[in-house]
Amino acid sequence: MSLLGQSKFQIHKGTLLITLPQQLLGIGGSSYLVFCENINVMLWLMASYISWVLIGVVGVGTFYHKYWAHKSFNTYWFIELIGTFLGILAGLGAPFFWVAVHMDHHHRYADRNSLDLHSPTKGFFNAYCGWQFKAFNLKSKTAKRLLRCGNFRLFSKYYYQIYWTVVLLLFLIHPYAPIFLIFLPGAIHFHVEGLVASFCHTKRWGYRNYETDDESVNILLLGWLTWGAAFHNNHHGAPRKCHNRLEPYEIDLSEIVLFLIPKCRDSWSEKLKIKS
Ligand SMILES: [Zn+2]
Ligand SMILES: [Zn+2]
Repeated sequence: MSLLGQSKFQIHKGTLLITLPQQLLGIGGSSYLVFCENINVMLWLMASYISWVLIGVVGVGTFYHKYWAHKSFNTYWFIELIGTFLGILAGLGAPFFWVAVHMDHHHRYADRNSLDLHSPTKGFFNAYCGWQFKAFNLKSKTAKRLLRCGNFRLFSKYYYQIYWTVVLLLFLIHPYAPIFLIFLPGAIHFHVEGLVASFCHTKRWGYRNYETDDESVNILLLGWLTWGAAFHNNHHGAPRKCHNRLEPYEIDLSEIVLFLIPKCRDSWSEKLKIKS
């Protein structure tokens, strides 16, 4: 297998090593503890929500997606390191894998070609999560270019090792901590991504501000709940924008995160060592 494990075997490995334990321990384990054990439910669930914001909204939504995949903003290497570290804790795949699926498959072929791996044109379940259980050859032109960046390479190469080391350390601090701080928020974000990929690419469920070539829509309530992710037609209409807000009522809470991140003025061409 190559450095970053392309092709069919990567999918099964990722599913077995993180997705399945994450769902079982995150949903099943937290439900058992909430209903059957005498724990401080409000405290643990509040911690889970904060952790979801950190690993899902900041890690995946802001850094995997807006920063690495779309290069919507630029920041300092240590902020990049923290943001990408948070992203891998969501357990949705290494940065290389996530960016390749999102840019080299989804945006490039959105709903128009079977190479869009999670399009609902191949069925609702396929879009929600089924695509992750199928073998496919990963296209990775955009993601390969990002390997020139040290943090992207580091977290892509050692994704599993870092993820499970953090889980182990948290377990040693408190046995419930991995369940409420890693598995449950990761499982929630797995379903957030599934909801956006399926409902937000089916025209009958929402409305459109941009006449794009794909089936993308905005869903107001889901957009509020997912910190802007479900204003998905706005994203496909203007993919390089930092936020997904167009109308005043389309509240994209991820703008709070973007406001707090210090930006640097270096261009992405400099960062990727591309000659202009
Ligand atoms: Zn999309
Ligand atoms: Zn995107």
